[in-house]
Amino acid sequence: MVIGAGFSGLAAAAHLARGGARVTVVERHDQPGGRARTWSEAGFHFDMGPSWYWMPDLFERFFRTFGHEVSDLYDLRRLDPSYRVVWPAPGEGSSPRFPPGSGAPPGSDTASGSGRSSGSWDIPAGVPALRELFEAEEPGGGAALDRFLAETGAIYQAANSDYLFRPSLTFREFMDPRLLTEVVRMRMLRSMASYARSFFGSERLARLVEWPVLFLGASARKTPAMYSLMSYADMALGTWYPMGGMHRIIQAMVQVAEDQGVEFRFGSRVERIRVEGGRAVAVEMEGGGGALSADAVLASADYHHVEQTLLEPQHRQYTERYWERRTMSPSSLLYYLGIQGDLGDLPHHTLFFDQDLDAHMDAVYLRPAWPRSPLFYACAPSVTDPSVAPAGASNLFLLVPLAPGLEDSDAARETVFQGVMARLEAHVGLPLRERLVVKRSYAMRDFEADYGAFRGNAYGMANTLRQTGPLKPRLRSSQVRGLYFAGQLTVPGPGMPPSLVSGELAAGVLLRDLGVRPTEASPPGSPRP
Ligand SMILES: Cc1cc2nc3c(=O)[nH]c(=O)nc-3n(C[C@H](O)[C@H](O)[C@H](O)COP(=O)(O)OP(=O)(O)OC[C@H]3O[C@@H](n4cnc5c(N)ncnc54)[C@H](O)[C@@H]3O)c2cc1C
Repeated sequence: MVIGAGFSGLAAAAHLARGGARVTVVERHDQPGGRARTWSEAGFHFDMGPSWYWMPDLFERFFRTFGHEVSDLYDLRRLDPSYRVVWPAPGEGSSPRFPPGSGAPPGSDTASGSGRSSGSWDIPAGVPALRELFEAEEPGGGAALDRFLAETGAIYQAANSDYLFRPSLTFREFMDPRLLTEVVRMRMLRSMASYARSFFGSERLARLVEWPVLFLGASARKTPAMYSLMSYADMALGTWYPMGGMHRIIQAMVQVAEDQGVEFRFGSRVERIRVEGGRAVAVEMEGGGGALSADAVLASADYHHVEQTLLEPQHRQYTERYWERRTMSPSSLLYYLGIQGDLGDLPHHTLFFDQDLDAHMDAVYLRPAWPRSPLFYACAPSVTDPSVAPAGASNLFLLVPLAPGLEDSDAARETVFQGVMARLEAHVGLPLRERLVVKRSYAMRDFEADYGAFRGNAYGMANTLRQTGPLKPRLRSSQVRGLYFAGQLTVPGPGMPPSLVSGELAAGVLLRDLGVRPTEASPPGSPRP
């Protein structure tokens, strides 16, 4: 029995079925995807969560295990530019500061040049063009980028061919002299912020290579440099988009799982995991939906929700105090907007780093508060994919990272909305708010209501040094036999590719415990057993 049909639950279900298990997935929502669900309104189709497709090799790896190429399943396009970064205008925002006398790199422009609110860089796809951008910003920047990518590329390869796939059940898995030597030699335990600055003198270049670790839920100051593999994924492997939207990946995963014989029950919310004699034996459904018996339960819903809500206290591994002391990933204020007309020259992805990054990080991690001048991210998928908006209209998604657990009110949301829209409108030079036809917000209280998310977190638990590998909540329960966990609150961490890996790891541990040896994948399209 698998609880939850997000990335990790779908991956786990497909791997379990491939290993010979009879698998049922129970999902509380009426569609698969979890945080990667869709919402449609007035002809607009919104991906509700993820929008950055990075690490294409991990998606290929997943689908190849089941006999598919990604290209058989969806039309994946590399974006160029990968994304745009909007920097503070000189004198605005305390960081990053413009180095005195720095030249304008390729792709940059200024308020006077384009009517934008500040300088911005369009980050090109491909290392040669990136190298030019780095060199123009800082003499020697191109060579520094080469060194940075060589080092982070080695980390990426080591992680994706080995370490990422260790279930982290014990520290012994990592007592590997070769690994420990490399970690020390490559200074992997220092912070990502300090690691980035050991390569680049320009604050903008340092910001550019460190921002990808924000995906892992903590600031660059709190994230160990081993996660610089995210920067390699960004700069060397590129930013991709599946035509039709991110939900195409979910549809493909459901298809793969069904081909393996997995059954789905949507609109089925688990109320309790029944434990008898120290073993998980069934899940009890909400609203008198009865109980479904199981030889084992793999819970891919939020770990905290499963332990603290679905299990009786005597069966929990972690106390509420334990959870209170964890560093959760941020929550987010999201806006799904349908806009009549176009968005000017806005590219698919734009990061508004035009305000004080450190002040915003403090408001998320140190002194939780609604940020006064937040950083935000704008995603305009209809720039690439007309199918996500009606003809002549644009699909726009906004994301503002917020501290988990903040008091969430409509008034606070609206204040932030007006502020970020004013900046976006200044950037594109268009009165977008006058052309709004769809507007929906989503934040902490929605994450809590829809996923039982602890403190309304969006991305699970942060990948700080103290919450890495065996220091994360474990894949296998130490209190209940036959109970396993997957998802973004356990190993390896937040994000679509890590969630895929998490499902695979949890399924592997479960199958080994049952004494089942994985079998060959069923050929695509073969009938259900
Ligand atoms: C706004 C946002 C933007 C993001 N952007 C990116 C991005 O650009 N790129 C990227 O790689 N990652 C991104 N992520 C992270 C990524 O989406 C997640 O890490 C990943 O989707 C988590 O998958 P999961 O399976 O762990 O959890 P979930 O997707 O939350 O799946 C858990 C499932 O369990 C179900 N469930 C919960 N409780 C019960 C119950 N009691 N009974 C039955 N079912 C239950 C839920 O409905 C849900 O479907 C983003 C996340 C968010 C929220």
